Amino acid sequence: MMGSVKAQKTLAELVKIDSVSSRSNAEIIDYLTRRCEVLKLRTQRFSYHDENGVEKINLIALAGTDFSAETAVELALVGHTDTVPYDPNWPEATNLTERDGKLYGRGSCDTKGFIAAALTAIENIDLSRLNKPLALIFTADEEIGLRGARYLAQINPLRVRYSIVGEPTSLQPIRAGKGYSLAEVIVKGREAHSAYPALGASAVFRAARLINRLEAIAEELKDEQHPAFDPAYTTLNVGLIRGGSAKNVLAGECRFTLEWRPIPTQSSDRVLNLFKSAIEDEQSKDRELQCEVDANRADPGFETAPDSPLIKLLETATGRTSGTVAFGTEGAQMQALGSEPVVIGPGDIREAHRTGEFVPVRELEQCSEILEHAVLELCV
Ligand SMILES: [Zn+2]
Repeated sequence: MMGSVKAQKTLAELVKIDSVSSRSNAEIIDYLTRRCEVLKLRTQRFSYHDENGVEKINLIALAGTDFSAETAVELALVGHTDTVPYDPNWPEATNLTERDGKLYGRGSCDTKGFIAAALTAIENIDLSRLNKPLALIFTADEEIGLRGARYLAQINPLRVRYSIVGEPTSLQPIRAGKGYSLAEVIVKGREAHSAYPALGASAVFRAARLINRLEAIAEELKDEQHPAFDPAYTTLNVGLIRGGSAKNVLAGECRFTLEWRPIPTQSSDRVLNLFKSAIEDEQSKDRELQCEVDANRADPGFETAPDSPLIKLLETATGRTSGTVAFGTEGAQMQALGSEPVVIGPGDIREAHRTGEFVPVRELEQCSEILEHAVLELCV
């Protein structure tokens, strides 16, 4: 079978398996395990339970080495097995359909296309020729906070020299990504009749002062530039706010979210520390101001040097200069496993996460050729 036909057939089989993040990913992992075992790869599962008690599985398959306390590979190809939800009225969602050189289906672009390309690439290689070990890493729960990859980074089951993380980049190599951090801010006030404001303290007015300070911090951070990114600085967002119980009551509590996307050269505490000193400053003017900052996520960014052999190799193979992205990927967790990561994959991120998601046939085909080339260059 031609490479492209093989990749398409695999993609159709992957899309047929519903692997929305809220469900168990056991079925798609079983499928991938069978595919890897046919190729005589050694497989191992690394599973955990999500907050609903559902078992989620990461699968690692090795060629040229075995699992041990010191498993180390030269190259890992990394794809997440979960997808975002789909509209049940979209008939193509789990039934891959080709039209005008495009393959439609949920996950076709994010990120089952990459997985199909990786399997096709491996099938085309005589694995007995490998001088350096290779791994396939299939993760869970990427779409709901990179949880599978974070779990792997935490248990550290192998060391990796170079990693290629699949995400739709229209086959542009991405050598750096911003981090992702999130906190919930809870501001306390004292309820009172709004006709007598002196009897209480409005949590909403207090929150407004803090949010003004955050806007000023966002301005200040624009001076700390990383020119490879667009925007070139850490960005802040207060996306949700909720407070008060009635229009004529001083709000007793106000909560808002603070989200920021740090450039990889900045410490993950930078924004929190700036915010904490702003809070202290506000407290010196309003002694009763109580505010809790619940920082519940701090995914670091990642950056691989522009002259890394992996970047050079992929720039040559794709004919495209490497770039950066402002959204979160599993690159940081792969960096935690010791590797120089690059993110690349077929399809356009702007097409992902929508009804009508597709991957161009030509890019799927090219991706499998590029991955085959990368394995031959780095591992043979
Ligand atoms: Zn993805």
